[in-house]
Amino acid sequence: MTMTCDQLDALLPEFFDGSLTAELETAAADHLATCSDCRTVISELEGVGSLYRTHGRLDLPEDARERIRHALGIEDG
Ligand SMILES: [Zn+2]
Repeated sequence: MTMTCDQLDALLPEFFDGSLTAELETAAADHLATCSDCRTVISELEGVGSLYRTHGRLDLPEDARERIRHALGIEDG
């Protein structure tokens, strides 16, 4: 299954919510592994970028953070 940037973008709420199916989550992770643009978007949404400092902490569940860190290949935030 190949996912486009637009498809990933549409799935971001579910991605952060942890409500993606395993298949879609795998597809999203595969896309992130090959798409630096989407990694940047996710990193900023996750709070690594300027959003974290300007808008405060995003209310993400820890398991979502874990999943995102794993998808991005980040061991520890
Ligand atoms: Zn992309």
